[in-house]
Amino acid sequence: MTSGAERGGEWADVLVRQVAARSILNPTTLPAGDYSANPYVGCPHKCRYCYASFMKRFAHHPEPWGDFLDVKSWEPLRRPGRYRGKTILVGTVCDPYNPWEATCRRTSALLEQLQGSGAFLTILTKSDLILRDRDLLEQFDGLTAVFSINTLSEAFRRDMDRAAPIAKRIEAMRALHGRGIGTACFISPVFPGITDVCAIMEAVADACDEVWIENLNLRGSFRQDILHYIAEKHPDLVPLYRQIYVDGDRSYWADLAEVVEQEADKQGITIRNYFYHEQIVRSKRAQEERLS
Ligand code: SF4
Repeated sequence: MTSGAERGGEWADVLVRQVAARSILNPTTLPAGDYSANPYVGCPHKCRYCYASFMKRFAHHPEPWGDFLDVKSWEPLRRPGRYRGKTILVGTVCDPYNPWEATCRRTSALLEQLQGSGAFLTILTKSDLILRDRDLLEQFDGLTAVFSINTLSEAFRRDMDRAAPIAKRIEAMRALHGRGIGTACFISPVFPGITDVCAIMEAVADACDEVWIENLNLRGSFRQDILHYIAEKHPDLVPLYRQIYVDGDRSYWADLAEVVEQEADKQGITIRNYFYHEQIVRSKRAQEERLS
């Protein structure tokens, strides 16, 4: 397995190790799925706003989020047919097509094990490496490959992550769409005043079946980092960020939701609006607890 130092470049600091996982599929409380599957712990894409960075608490790594990667091994699924009709979200707290997947092939191993299971897969990624598995993906009815894109600006993208360039993500989405594989563009997280939602919708309209959209939540360890970034690189937006993230004013999102609806009608795009997704997850958990 190639270490970060051997790989070099922007991933030189990534510490890579192999871990045995008890199970690769776990029930999820996320509203869009029944199970989650994460072939890796950690994510070298190191997005500054990564909501999965809370996983560091459970991973027993002193390294910062983004600078470690645990490559999972697991016992092959014994009865994949038990997942028939269930939705499996692949990559809820990692990118299943991070650069190490090119050689470790843990995501392709999972796909091979799930072949013929009748499960519906939703795969979340920021990488064009997914194209490598197109023949496998084609074999799943109801599969959706979801590409996260929250900007068309490479400068902003580079400030925020070290995943694939935006143009490569759109090309990959278009290539899968062209082969009849379900695709969605996930405009997430929307940075107020920076993410040009309408421009992204226009750029991907012919490459995806749906557009999903989610607001930026600022919390935990990355809240201060993002607010500093805004103050340094976009000082004109400081009042807007204060209004949203300090005063708790949600009118920006209500107005944006209307703009998105109008743009979707214009472009003939189906929208899934995940604004305030965290509250949705919390209410689903509460509902499950009431019913249990
Ligand atoms: S690609 Fe996803 S999991 Fe990986 S760092 Fe970015 S937001 Fe987190």
